[in-house]
Amino acid sequence: MLAAPGAGKGTQARRLAQHHGLEHVASGDLLRAEIVAGTAVGRAAESYVNRGDLVPDDVILEILGPRLKSAAEHGGYVLDGFPRNRAQAERAYQMATDVGGIELQAVIHLEVEREELRRRMLARADAESRSDDTRVTIEHRFEVFDAETAPLIGYYEGRGLLHAIDGSQDVDAVADVIVEALSGDGDEVE
Ligand code: AMP
Repeated sequence: MLAAPGAGKGTQARRLAQHHGLEHVASGDLLRAEIVAGTAVGRAAESYVNRGDLVPDDVILEILGPRLKSAAEHGGYVLDGFPRNRAQAERAYQMATDVGGIELQAVIHLEVEREELRRRMLARADAESRSDDTRVTIEHRFEVFDAETAPLIGYYEGRGLLHAIDGSQDVDAVADVIVEALSGDGDEVE
């Protein structure tokens, strides 16, 4: 699930995972849990998350690697928030090749206008009080998305894996469109 901050990737990844009985693996959720637990990884990640910068690739791979291997063994997963840059995508691909039995089958890009994203993020800031949902950090996270993550859209399009989905509709409508779009991929995602 690939999308700018506020586009609903957490919500939609959870819905899609539920629909297909898959595990939902969210890099941001895993990082926040490590930070709350005060682990070494959490301490290494905290300042990056609070600034809205990407956590170093090695830290992310250390947390996600074992989760992905185990989820793949148990029927697959919906990945939310990873990869976030080209280097992560290449390392994930390498890991999948090394381990075997892990295959990237589809990439969902949720498209939402920037103004709508701002509106949603500020509403979430009030509701959830996430440390990285301040006005300044939100703008920085958009910059990071544009510079680091957006290039992955073309990368996955080139590999024939990308599904561009209009994420501006309500939650149920977007969830339906995603399921419908993936049903065209045959039994790969069943
Ligand atoms: P998210 O919950 O996906 O919006 O992620 C929240 C924050 O966690 C991001 O702004 C980054 O600081 C960090 N983060 C999440 N996923 C990654 C990733 N794959 N690579 C680097 N940093 C990440």
